[in-house]
Amino acid sequence: MAHAENMTLMELYERFTTDEACLEYLYEKRWPNGFACPKCGVIDEPFNISSRKLYQCKHCNRQTSVTAGTIMDKTRTPLRKWFLAIYLMSSDKRGCSALRLQRELATMFEQLKNSPEMIEMLAKMLESNSK
Ligand SMILES: [Zn+2]
Repeated sequence: MAHAENMTLMELYERFTTDEACLEYLYEKRWPNGFACPKCGVIDEPFNISSRKLYQCKHCNRQTSVTAGTIMDKTRTPLRKWFLAIYLMSSDKRGCSALRLQRELATMFEQLKNSPEMIEMLAKMLESNSK
């Protein structure tokens, strides 16, 4: 999340007001040159199923989602919350203003703190995003 790193928490709030906005962002990040099928590798506009949540390759019919293979795919947590959590984790990693964020997101922070597994998964995801 190169751009998100430069965002303030307020900007994050304002930009990602809906899960759709999050999906759009992830789509652009995941497929900057257009949708690339994870199965056959063809770059082509996919069929769009169920309002942006699922994409189907026109060539091999493989269905995939923008969150496939990430922790966001495995939970029912709204994407907006993941974005906030990831923002929090990445800010914390850089050592800036973790306490301010912690206050604002106290509940989530507590949840994350008490879940080493989730932190590990978030860290992995952050790593793969920064490559
Ligand atoms: Zn395909």
